[in-house]
Amino acid sequence: MIKKDAGIFPKIFETLRTVFGFRNFRPNQESIVTNILDGHDVFAVMPTGGGKSLCYQLPAKMMRGTAVVISPLISLMKDQVDSARVNGIAAAYMNSSMDSGEVAEVYRRLRSGDLSLLYIAPERFVMPHFLETLKTVPISLFAIDEAHCISEWGHDFRPDYLGLSIIPGMFPGVPIAAFTATATEKVQDDIVRRIGLRNPHLVRASFNRANLFYEVRKKEKVGPQLLEFLNRRKGESGIIYRTTRDSVMETAALLSSYGINALPYHAGLTAEERQRNQEAFNRDEAQVITATIAFGMGIDKSNVRFVVHADLPKNIEGYYQETGRAGRDGEPAHCLLLFSRGDIPRMRYFIDRITDERERSIAVEKLNQIVGFAAHNVCRRKHLLGFFGEQYPDENCGACDICTGSVEKVDVTLDAQILMSAMSRTQQRFGAGHVVDIVTGADTKRIRDLKHDAIKTYGAGKHRDKKYWRYLVDELLAQEIIIEEGDRYPVLKLTEKGSSVLFGSENVTALKREEKRDKKTIAGAVEEGRYDADLFEILRVLRKRFAVEFQVPPYIIFSDKTLHDMSRRYPVNLQEMRLITGVGEEKLQRYGKDFAEEIRRYLKENPEIVPQENVSERLVQQKKKKGETVEETYELYKKGLSIENIAGLRKLAVSTIAAHLEKLMQEGRDIDINRLVETEKRRKIEKAFRAGVQWNLGSVVELFGGEVSYEEVRLVRANLLRQGDA
Ligand code: ADP
Repeated sequence: MIKKDAGIFPKIFETLRTVFGFRNFRPNQESIVTNILDGHDVFAVMPTGGGKSLCYQLPAKMMRGTAVVISPLISLMKDQVDSARVNGIAAAYMNSSMDSGEVAEVYRRLRSGDLSLLYIAPERFVMPHFLETLKTVPISLFAIDEAHCISEWGHDFRPDYLGLSIIPGMFPGVPIAAFTATATEKVQDDIVRRIGLRNPHLVRASFNRANLFYEVRKKEKVGPQLLEFLNRRKGESGIIYRTTRDSVMETAALLSSYGINALPYHAGLTAEERQRNQEAFNRDEAQVITATIAFGMGIDKSNVRFVVHADLPKNIEGYYQETGRAGRDGEPAHCLLLFSRGDIPRMRYFIDRITDERERSIAVEKLNQIVGFAAHNVCRRKHLLGFFGEQYPDENCGACDICTGSVEKVDVTLDAQILMSAMSRTQQRFGAGHVVDIVTGADTKRIRDLKHDAIKTYGAGKHRDKKYWRYLVDELLAQEIIIEEGDRYPVLKLTEKGSSVLFGSENVTALKREEKRDKKTIAGAVEEGRYDADLFEILRVLRKRFAVEFQVPPYIIFSDKTLHDMSRRYPVNLQEMRLITGVGEEKLQRYGKDFAEEIRRYLKENPEIVPQENVSERLVQQKKKKGETVEETYELYKKGLSIENIAGLRKLAVSTIAAHLEKLMQEGRDIDINRLVETEKRRKIEKAFRAGVQWNLGSVVELFGGEVSYEEVRLVRANLLRQGDA
């Protein structure tokens, strides 16, 4: 425990800044950190990406002794330890993948008091030898990750976790902080009781993932839809979930054939293949992973920029968890669900094979819930959070397809009435196909036999095609204005709400789908999210180089968020670098210089970018395209300005303006050399060129020993070349 004094808060913030490179805490982090420092137990439910690690790493860095972190995910330990180390925290892990020599070395460091953080798997933790050792060294705190594993009510019970209940008795003075991303109130109580947390500080964070954009699109042709989606996300990491192993393989093959680096992941691959593909994704070597839901547990990659569900997910919990893997770094990320009612029968097929009746009916209910999520035109975020018992307060979330109006609503009352009238006049005994045939006036044998061509609404919907009427049926089903009854030959029936629409006392609106609406930016985050994409690409290459050198995933070197911040504020020296989010002192020393240098080089090559004096106020400058900036020079030239004047006005170097003018001459524009270079000088330079000196600018400049400038030589050469004098 650290004794609380007035000076503790500045120290906490100082550590936050110097070790982690952050200026502010995320929600709840501060209260968790201060409670741990005060020696209190903590129980926190925080969503993925909420920043749980910092909650125990920061106190671990500040307190005396070792913080013991119990985590079931062996595959993550190395990455977690690596990311603590690059922040300058002495960290190690102990698990079954290590040989006895390596384990002995960790024991040695533990005993010598050299470790601030030790990650350990639960089954090792309870081994007598380990516990005996722990009792002999100072321990700062215990952190229990994935704490729901201790509860049989949770979805991932692990018996090994039960052993953790010995901690409070064995280490009475040491605070315990337990974390999980999923726990209902019931599971929460169970966890607190089983570990034996002592009057813990409780945190239930909002499950809202504000940086995720949720979108549902009608599933049509998966391949082209995915390609179109990926086309706008060149180089961005993402996961594409599919239901079956075959479709996972097919999708990976399709994307690869279009030059997208995609790898598959499903339970049918060997452990080695899975490991290799996951690793490649983690290290940004594969851009996309196409996977069944077997993929995701034990992946900590923070720069997943999109998650696509190309098939209907099983339930909302799964959907939330899978989409939750996007944007852990807090930067905008996109979650796309391709939805087709055609996916429902397949899901039903699997559900129908569940023998336990109760289980089966729960599965059906869960399926209906996810269908409701995809089909209803209410805010996706509100819907999701509502499912978890959380009320989203705002009218408009600004980051889903419904709220951003990328889905337009149209009044379809009249058409709905035509459709329902056809249903009603045929005693609600027919399925969607036949009803659509009636309203579109199809000439089928069935219609003739049943004399349905004689009813009043026959052909009343001829003005629209069949596809439209099928879509309207789907919309009305989604809004429960009509329902489908019967398994083998489902027929359409009106609900009470449907009758109100048919008889004119209620209106219906439907989602109008427009294809060209996939904005890459996310509302709310648009301004903040803007960065210089060219620079980002360059910095990403540099990050990759370090990642390969140090054998860690790139996001451990710097997160996407940090690179975005650099590509927005152009820090060119270590002082400025220090102000970038995610750059603590250790990373500053390790990588700061190289990144600053790269940015300096970039600014030199793009002289039209002139960052603001004060780095905190710098924002990305909309880089003008090369063509645009040349045109701007041409406009000023035509107004009669000299090269120097143009350069001064545009805050660009004289050499840049000369290069623009050279380009304009090459394009055959009307540039008069006499206005740019004095006649005397021009003649001299021309003579030198004609005399057979190389066409190399430098040699001509040298020849005159500083009497003519590089720019002048350049322009005269361009002039000669355009006269065909080369
Ligand atoms: P969780 O374990 O809750 O899923 P992590 O601990 O992996 O989340 O944190 C997710 C990301 O958020 C990491 O990239 C981390 O560096 C970043 N992060 C954590 N705390 C902050 C903060 N206060 N400010 C900015 N970024 C943060």
